[in-house]
Amino acid sequence: MKFNIAVIAGDGIGPEITKVTTDVLEAAGAKFGHGFKFTDVLMGGCAIDKTGVPLPDETIRICKDSDSVLLGAVGGPKWDTLPGHLRPEKGLLGIRAALGLYANIRPAVLFPSLINACPLRADIAARGIDMVVYRELTGGMYFGERGMREGKYGAEAYDTEAYSKFEVERIARLAFECALTRKKHVISIDKANVLDSSRLWRATVAEVAKAYPGVTCENMLVDNAAMQLVKNPSQFDVIVTSNIFGDILSDEASMVTGSIGMLPSSSIGDSKLGLYEPIHGSAPDIAGKDLANPIATVLSAAMMLESSLGLPDAALAIRRAIDAALLKGFRTGDIMSAGCTPVGCKEMGGLIIAGLK
Ligand code: NAD
Repeated sequence: MKFNIAVIAGDGIGPEITKVTTDVLEAAGAKFGHGFKFTDVLMGGCAIDKTGVPLPDETIRICKDSDSVLLGAVGGPKWDTLPGHLRPEKGLLGIRAALGLYANIRPAVLFPSLINACPLRADIAARGIDMVVYRELTGGMYFGERGMREGKYGAEAYDTEAYSKFEVERIARLAFECALTRKKHVISIDKANVLDSSRLWRATVAEVAKAYPGVTCENMLVDNAAMQLVKNPSQFDVIVTSNIFGDILSDEASMVTGSIGMLPSSSIGDSKLGLYEPIHGSAPDIAGKDLANPIATVLSAAMMLESSLGLPDAALAIRRAIDAALLKGFRTGDIMSAGCTPVGCKEMGGLIIAGLK
């Protein structure tokens, strides 16, 4: 089959990691008899530079007409002083909303070969880390009412956290469905001791849980969750949480697995069309130096093959090729440890492609 993939390379290391990833996809396609047509589209800082806006209408149109979307990362210091509505990150929020992608799924797995890159105590790392975070993506504070006003102490700014039952139900259902395929344990993370929005979140998750009697469901306050992720990460199987808590906790989950450069994500809605991207940002400090770890983006493409394109064999082959490269001791700088062989972004891509052949 031939698949149309929209590619948003974006800013910083985005073009380097998406180039490696489309090369890996082509190699996997050749192995399994499938083809890809990649269409480059603009979003983020590069879109602001070329069109004046972070998310051109043409990008939304092409993404909607594609089988799936691959994204590198957007943003960088060059655009940091622009007004909020013109910031590269606005493109990110806009594309998620335009494509109806309300669930962000972030698996965080400690690869046995990377146990030395795990910053946790050896006895904690030895228990293993294998969790998946379901983060609500189109509601909550990032999309709530916001503004500036005169307050008691002069100028003040506000952002609002609001969730409807409907929004919580649909992300909770996805998390419970996922748990059925794993260790059947969901931990819902909120701040129900303080926030009304969290109390509705908690009550709604409890209602959804009734339809999944085979899955155990626990609630955890977000401050405790931040601590438990470093104290005892092996207790987590499936996490479901709001947009802002998921944003923060999934970065923490990524670091306990070794490097932010290893973790993929998918953003999905009710259709097959998904957006696949690494969880890290555009890493301006290493952009253009061939230092970026492309594995998070390549693993995101593997999620795309599995979830949007129905090609689980190709996804598995890519994961095995990554494992093989790591087991042979090849490492980009972010996951380097003593005795391993340092490689750049392109070379890591070449090793993964070689592993597919
Ligand atoms: P970042 O994730 O870009 O970088 C944090 C640190 O991790 C940096 O030291 C970076 O070099 C390193 N790093 C990140 N990805 C790496 C990789 N693949 N290989 C090796 N090292 C890697 O976060 P930041 O510095 O806070 O943000 C930089 C820019 O990215 C900002 O403009 C921010 O808004 C944007 N951002 C974009 C997204 C996105 O596009 N989805 C997500 C987060 C941040």
